[in-house]
Amino acid sequence: MLIPHDTRIALDTVVDLMNTAPQGDRPDELADLEGLRAFVHAHKISDVGRLGADDLRAVREVREKFTAVFSAPEPRIAAPLINQLVAAAGTTPQLTDHDGYDLHVHYFAPGASVADHLGADCGMALAFIVVAGEQERLRRCEAPDCGRAFVDLSRNRSRRYCDSRTCGNRLHVAAYRARRKEAAG
Ligand SMILES: [Zn+2]
Ligand SMILES: [Zn+2]
Repeated sequence: MLIPHDTRIALDTVVDLMNTAPQGDRPDELADLEGLRAFVHAHKISDVGRLGADDLRAVREVREKFTAVFSAPEPRIAAPLINQLVAAAGTTPQLTDHDGYDLHVHYFAPGASVADHLGADCGMALAFIVVAGEQERLRRCEAPDCGRAFVDLSRNRSRRYCDSRTCGNRLHVAAYRARRKEAAG
């Protein structure tokens, strides 16, 4: 599956956005504007102007919608959710070859709010995955007490754990055991 660089970045962003939601012992990382500013900074979301309470509310709403897309059991359920998301974001496809990249498409409208920017670009990235018949790559970590969202870009779609420190280690141990078993057998 060939994934353009912006789509890959958008997939990372949408996963990180979903994982700001409170889960188990983990607090809501978008509880206040400071959290939103940190998120925007960490993901280099540019041109979103001065962030306010409206932005915080809108981004939290978009986060919920993305979470619904991720838990959609099949494309027929994911598709209308994505359609609604990208329509609400005022998606405006623009061909660009900025920063030396090959021509590719940006989806957010110029001057879009941070919520619309996320809705457009991350919504289209998920659309890309669903259209490619790869929705099963949108996963949640199976480690107990984790449940973080991630996109499995492994060749054989076999990833079960997110790459957080604890879960990632678990993954390496499992792979190591499998290799040893193979070598022994
Ligand atoms: Zn780009
Ligand atoms: Zn995990």
